[in-house]
Amino acid sequence: MKVRIDDLPSEGRTFEVEVEGADLDQALGPDRDPGLVWSGPAQGTITLNKAGRSLRVQGEAGFRFTEPCARCLTEVNQSERAVFDLTKLLGPEPDHPRTHEVRDDEVDEDYLTEPEIDLTQVVLEQVALELPQRVLCTESCKGLCPQCGTNLNNESCRCAQQVLDPRFAMLAKLRKDDGTPTDR
Ligand SMILES: [Zn+2]
Ligand SMILES: [Zn+2]
Repeated sequence: MKVRIDDLPSEGRTFEVEVEGADLDQALGPDRDPGLVWSGPAQGTITLNKAGRSLRVQGEAGFRFTEPCARCLTEVNQSERAVFDLTKLLGPEPDHPRTHEVRDDEVDEDYLTEPEIDLTQVVLEQVALELPQRVLCTESCKGLCPQCGTNLNNESCRCAQQVLDPRFAMLAKLRKDDGTPTDR
């Protein structure tokens, strides 16, 4: 959704933008978790305000998806909301090379060289920034046993102790080699 900067009223204007999952996938590329499935389009609400030679871009973008828990692979429904307040400078980017160290307040300098702004692109960027690297079903998820694959949130398995304490595992192995029962 493209908006011409010159068409904005002086009091600013608010836009509703929907971005389909397929477009999100395309923008995120191969970086996203292959198990991620969007639960619907991302919903953006963006207010544009022009002031002099800058454009203020404020708003939020909500999006929902399901993705396997990074530890136990249970499908997790995730809901995220990116809140942003950006300033774009209007006009051509200065082409003189930077001869000094970039100061903190320059890092965010973002020039808009076109006479219009693409709000779909704004939402795509914000979703990419807000998308978690991984999801967990709960912060304390115990994950799967690396040996037998049991979901340790639901039940324990016989390998658990060995994993927790390698010294115990060593001892059990010695006993077994000895022919001694390992049960007690
Ligand atoms: Zn989990
Ligand atoms: Zn196990």
